[in-house]
Amino acid sequence: MSFVVAIDGPAGSGKGTVTELVGNRLGLVNIDTGAMFRCVTLAMLRQNIETSETEKIEKLLEEIKIELVKENQVQKVFLNSEDVSKEIRENAVNNFVSEVSTLKVVRDKLLKLQRQVAEGKDVIMEGRDIGTAVFPNADVKIYLDATPEERARRRVLQNQEKGIASTYEEALENVKTRDKIDSSRSIAPLTRAEDAIYIDSTNMEISEVVDEVCKIIEEKDYAKNEI
Ligand code: C5P
Repeated sequence: MSFVVAIDGPAGSGKGTVTELVGNRLGLVNIDTGAMFRCVTLAMLRQNIETSETEKIEKLLEEIKIELVKENQVQKVFLNSEDVSKEIRENAVNNFVSEVSTLKVVRDKLLKLQRQVAEGKDVIMEGRDIGTAVFPNADVKIYLDATPEERARRRVLQNQEKGIASTYEEALENVKTRDKIDSSRSIAPLTRAEDAIYIDSTNMEISEVVDEVCKIIEEKDYAKNEI
């Protein structure tokens, strides 16, 4: 039987880092669903496809191959066998991904893929709608939050580590715009599941958030022997 931990929250709330660290500590497979939406967005940008061109998007979705692979404890993202781990974090994708993520064809395709990759595994999956739409019966649901200012600050630092140029103003504008689109779309909007545990990480160190999430998972009886 598989065990599912759903981590939802807005852009830059620390989901990615926390999910990776908790996954490594507890031996859960880490699945970054945002990376999947980013791959579709990058593929559309490369082919100059607009969000209104449904037929072209359907064709692209039929052909696309998205893989999340862990190499030496580092998560890599492959689009049609090409390593796009860095490119999917660039501004061009940041600025378009939320619009692409409103599309029903895209969400339907990725919903299937997300359930498929989790099949038979113990997973920690991060996104916007994991606890509400992808796995409404997840064993553990966490909603991770932080103020937009703190999230923008973290995004700039993360970008620096990855060698991606960005300013604080740009990052703040981007998280606010994405929050707005992600929370107001009609299909599977970003929202806290009623049974999700809320963690405000604004004034917390990453290690504190990781400890807290591990404790919540342990209380659900997962992997007590592996810690
Ligand atoms: O998590 P990340 O910031 O990489 O996600 C990029 C975008 O993908 C989000 O802003 C959102 O528009 C979309 N997304 C989504 N549903 C998910 C994960 C991501 O709509 N489960």
